[in-house]
Amino acid sequence: PMGARRVAGGGSMNAGGKVPLGLKRKGLRIVVTGGAGFVGSHLVDRLIARGDSVIVVDNFFTGRKDNVAHHFGNPRFELIRHDVVEPILLEVDQIYHLACPASPVHYKFNPIHKTNVVGTLNMLGLAKRVGARFLLTSTSEVYGDPLQHPQVETYWGNVNPIGVRSCYDEGKRTAETLTMDYHRGLGIEVRIARIFNTYGPRMCLDDGRVVSNFVAQALRKEPLTVYGDGKQTRSFQYVSDLVEGLMRLMEGEHVGPFNLGNPGEFTMLELAEVVQETIDPNARIEFRPNTADDPHKRKPDISKAKELLGWQPSISLRQGLPLMVSDFRQRIFGDQKSTAT
Ligand code: NAD
Ligand code: UDP
Ligand code: UDP
Repeated sequence: PMGARRVAGGGSMNAGGKVPLGLKRKGLRIVVTGGAGFVGSHLVDRLIARGDSVIVVDNFFTGRKDNVAHHFGNPRFELIRHDVVEPILLEVDQIYHLACPASPVHYKFNPIHKTNVVGTLNMLGLAKRVGARFLLTSTSEVYGDPLQHPQVETYWGNVNPIGVRSCYDEGKRTAETLTMDYHRGLGIEVRIARIFNTYGPRMCLDDGRVVSNFVAQALRKEPLTVYGDGKQTRSFQYVSDLVEGLMRLMEGEHVGPFNLGNPGEFTMLELAEVVQETIDPNARIEFRPNTADDPHKRKPDISKAKELLGWQPSISLRQGLPLMVSDFRQRIFGDQKSTAT
């Protein structure tokens, strides 16, 4: 039966003149690559709740079955263990392409240029064959160590092509290029999101990202490890805000790229203070040497997403952080199985 059903208005190759995809319409067939990961699993929750049929394609490199286990047994949910570097045949209306390890610890250990390039090519090939709409989760890392602040989508970035982060940065830049090639050359409907630092429940423990590190360290009564002088900045977005932005982007009429991030900017020392306030006022701070090519500052200009997607984040760092702490507490101390949503 696969392939026979085509949801009205979904998935045909050219957008021209079609009824816009409504946020409320039910019954799309959607593949989420990387759907067992942090962001992907929260997106899957929303799509399933909306009434769509969701296929998760994930090789569990950094994701976990636990993140989607609550959907097992739902006839509208399917989980396929698969590496997107290999081709795959599916019949779907929309493709959310998230598969890609997102933390420096993982991508330095296992360079991921191939995942970004070959994996994205395969998903674009799939979009072309079945006429699906394709959304790429790119990253603020395409701006590199930015010389413009805050970063606007029109900024081309400052990336070291041979540095330790370049497998990720250049991988995503190539993925954006491929996406635009398939759009311009073949008429594929595409969407590009440039995601800024995001945190929340189900983040990979011990993956080395700053929010997960600080929260886990504070809970374990270990010192918070601040790299460098701690004056570098990031802007932290709560995961539900991001998922809302991704869905609006997919359903809307604009290709992008769109910055999706929270403009609230913090130094790493300020972040450490918020973690102290939230978890343990006595948590100590320990300075460590910084890693190479670390961007000095980062903050999204989200005017474009505000204007064209009607989107902006609603959860501040001080509101969002406590929401991930209970999930981390359960996973670290194992007092009960994580049931975070
Ligand atoms: P994550 O590591 O939790 O999720 C990535 C998922 O992709 C995991 O489930 C992993 O197992 C899967 N995966 C990795 N390589 C794969 C492959 N070759 N084939 C199939 N599956 C594969 O990371 P996340 O934070 O949820 O990130 C999701 C997406 O958002 C990524 O594309 C990432 O680059 C992007 N992004 C995230 C952030 C952030 O702060 N979380 C910021 C910018 C961009
Ligand atoms: N592809 C895939 N699933 C599909 C269609 C294509 O994985 O349903 C892969 C295909 O194997 C190829 C890539 O996507 O490696 C690009 O496909 P496309 O048809 O655009 O390019 P071509 O195969 O013509 O080089
Ligand atoms: N960082 C830190 N302590 C940690 C982990 C990271 O001070 O334990 C710093 C890191 O040097 C960087 C910032 O936090 O300046 C954000 O790092 P992360 O890996 O979370 O995200 P990205 O660098 O990809 O934005």
